[in-house]
Amino acid sequence: MYPQLEINLAKLRRNAKEVVSRCTAQGITVAAVVKGYWADPRMVRAYLDAGAKQVATSRVSQIRKMKEAGIDDVPFLLLRVPQMCELEEVAKYADYSLHSDLSVLQEYNRVCEELDVVRNVIVMADLGDLREGFWDKDEMVDACVFVDRGLHNLHLAGIGVNLGCYGAIQPTPEKMHDLLAIAGRVEERIGRKLEFISGGATSTYTMVHWGTLPEGINHLRIGEGVIPAYDLPFDWGITDLLDYTDRDIFTLRAQVLEVRTKPSYPQGTFCIDCFGGKPTFTDRGERKRALVGIGRADAGNVMDIMPRMEGVEVLGGSSDHLILDVEDCKTELKAGDVLEFDIRYSVMLPITNSPDVEKIYVE
Ligand SMILES: *Cc1c(COP(=O)(O)O)cnc(C)c1O
Repeated sequence: MYPQLEINLAKLRRNAKEVVSRCTAQGITVAAVVKGYWADPRMVRAYLDAGAKQVATSRVSQIRKMKEAGIDDVPFLLLRVPQMCELEEVAKYADYSLHSDLSVLQEYNRVCEELDVVRNVIVMADLGDLREGFWDKDEMVDACVFVDRGLHNLHLAGIGVNLGCYGAIQPTPEKMHDLLAIAGRVEERIGRKLEFISGGATSTYTMVHWGTLPEGINHLRIGEGVIPAYDLPFDWGITDLLDYTDRDIFTLRAQVLEVRTKPSYPQGTFCIDCFGGKPTFTDRGERKRALVGIGRADAGNVMDIMPRMEGVEVLGGSSDHLILDVEDCKTELKAGDVLEFDIRYSVMLPITNSPDVEKIYVE
């Protein structure tokens, strides 16, 4: 059945091995971030086979799902700073969690006390990307000291930062030195070393690749970096990443519903499209188009679906359709043909959770 998503586990395993071994060589523990594909247990296993020492995801429900699938021989890290309402679940399922709010930490400590467990926490600094984290670094150091001394059912395992997400701020050696400076202040106050100074995500892996990551950063949380479709090679210009990793872990296949030559400019009075938008069109005259059976309901941003066949271009889509320009395509396409596509992160995220997309695995 189509649409169909082929997942190449051997390639994932190989990519992860290359990335993890480069981190390990620099003394960095890798947390395998698996939220981009809803913690698909077979993909998680492949990543763990490659030597990742922790599994990380943004949602407690995914940790529960992994444990139910028999993955329980590895510590779990919760990435999204927890909601007040889910602290009991966090205490039950997450060995480590990231934090940025003192009142949540206090409540988390109370919940852990009630459950008679001690849980590890990593306190986050905001170094300019403007998502989670303490902005005032004195306040952050004080909070860390308070956790260490005053919250006995929490263990302050480390501090961390997230960059290159909301604010698109590049992780640089300077930002890492800022984080190391905070760690130094905390360590001096609590009189011991922190286990983890967590320097960020795939965007921080760029410095491992270039050999510019300052010593002392000993933990990274890597998701997209082992699925290097576009992020590192193209967005970051690290094309030599492709010397040691494969791009095509995912192959999306979808079926052609209709092929017709039509005007490229819509005919009639313009109002709005099916999502309330007012799109603009360029009149390129009559062009051959193919309508394909996958849409935004399955794939999110259809503009991030990349046709593998030459001369095929994505024009757009609706909830259930993808519309392609195939005028310059050398192959004579017809209804029933199956096309292959690469996908970016924004497509991987919804499509790996779509009940109507069949997943097949290649070992
Ligand atoms: C999603 C996430 C990551 C991993 O991001 P990638 O770009 O996929 O490596 C790391 N840390 C946090 C806090 C995250 O939310």
